[in-house]
Amino acid sequence: MKIVVIPGDGIGPETMAVCDEVLLSVSKRFELNIELSHESAGQESLKKTGATVTTELLEKVKKADGLMLGPMSTLELGQASKGEINASLFFRKNLDLYANIRPAKTYPGLTKRVQQDFDLIVVRENTEGFYADRNVESGSSEMLITPDVVISLRRITRHCCERIARSAFILAQNRKKHVTIVHKANVLKIADNMFIDICHQVGKEFPDVRIDDFIVDAMMAHVVRAPDQFDVIVTTNMFGDILSDLTSELSGSLGLAGTLNAGIDFAMGQAAHGSAPDIAGKNIANPFSQIISAAMLLNWYGQKHDSKSFIAASQAMEQITLELMKSGQVTPDVGGNLKTDEIAKAFIKQLQMKN
Ligand code: ATP
Repeated sequence: MKIVVIPGDGIGPETMAVCDEVLLSVSKRFELNIELSHESAGQESLKKTGATVTTELLEKVKKADGLMLGPMSTLELGQASKGEINASLFFRKNLDLYANIRPAKTYPGLTKRVQQDFDLIVVRENTEGFYADRNVESGSSEMLITPDVVISLRRITRHCCERIARSAFILAQNRKKHVTIVHKANVLKIADNMFIDICHQVGKEFPDVRIDDFIVDAMMAHVVRAPDQFDVIVTTNMFGDILSDLTSELSGSLGLAGTLNAGIDFAMGQAAHGSAPDIAGKNIANPFSQIISAAMLLNWYGQKHDSKSFIAASQAMEQITLELMKSGQVTPDVGGNLKTDEIAKAFIKQLQMKN
C-alpha cells in the first residue's frame, strides 16, 4: 500500500511524525508492506512553490492507494487564484471524497466532558453544501454583490444526498442499527426536506436500521445532554463540520478526532482539528487523532481489497490506542503527561507486547 503523507501546518509535522512511526511499525508487524512517500502542501509548499497545492502533487496522490493529510491552516489563506488554496478542500473535491466519517467516543481512563460513555459517528457530506468552493464548475458560490452585500449559496443534489445516506446506513448496519438525520428543514424547506426524504428512501434498503431526525439546533442540546442515545448521525456538509467538532470535544479533546474522507476509489485520513497554532512546536499535541485516522485508512483499504491483515492491523491500532488511554499514557489535553513524541515509543512498546 502506497500512502502519500503530507505533514501539514502547525502541529501537523509533530503529530504526523508519530503517525509515521506507528504506521511503519504496524506494517512490519502485520507484513503489510506499506510505503510512505512524503510531500508538502500548505504554508511550506506556498513558500517553496508559490502555491499551497499543485496539480503535480494531485497526480502523485492519484497514483497512490491513500493519503494522510496533516492539518492545514486556513485562516491566513487569501485568493485561490494566487495559489492560496485550501488543500483539504482541494483533495476532497478533486478526489471526490464525498463521505467524511467522524467517529467520537469516550475512552476509559480519560477525562471526559460528559457523564455518559458514548460511541457515535458523524457522517458528513463533503462535496457540496455551504462551501463556496464546491458548488460551481468555476468561480465561487459566494458573491460580493456590492461592498455591503454578500450572497452565499448552498448546493444540495439528489446524487450527493443518496450516496452519503447510503454510507451512513452501511455503517449503522454493522453497529447499533440507528441512523439520526440532522437538518434544518423548518427553514431550508426544499433542500433539507429532500435530504430527509432521500435518507428515508435509502433507509428502506436497510429495514432493520431505526431512523429518527432532529433539527440541527435542537441536536446540539440533545447531543450534549445524552450523546449515548446516538449511533450514526448523517447530515449535510456544514452542519456536520460543526456538530462533529462538538462531539469530538465531548469525548475528551479535539486531539482524539480521527476522520476518514472516503470516495469510491480513494480515501484520505485526516484529523478533524486544525493546525492548533497555540500549541505548535511545544511537543504537547495529541497525535491520537492522526493515529485513529490512519487506522481508519488501513481498515478502508482492507475492506476494499478484502485483506484480513490490513483489517487486523487497523483493529490492533484501535486496541493499542484504547490500552494506552486506559493506562493514562496520553498527552496533557486529556489529562496525561506524555510528550507527543513519547506516544510513538509507548505505542510501539505496546505493539511488541502483543503475540
Ligand atoms: P486553525 O486555524 O488551523 O483551524 P485553530 O486553533 O483555530 O486552528 P484547531 O486547530 O482546531 O483550531 O484548535 C482548536 C483548539 O483545540 C485549540 O485550543 C487547540 O490547541 C486544540 N487542539 C486542536 N488539536 C489538538 C491536538 N491534536 N492536541 C491537543 N489540542 C488540540
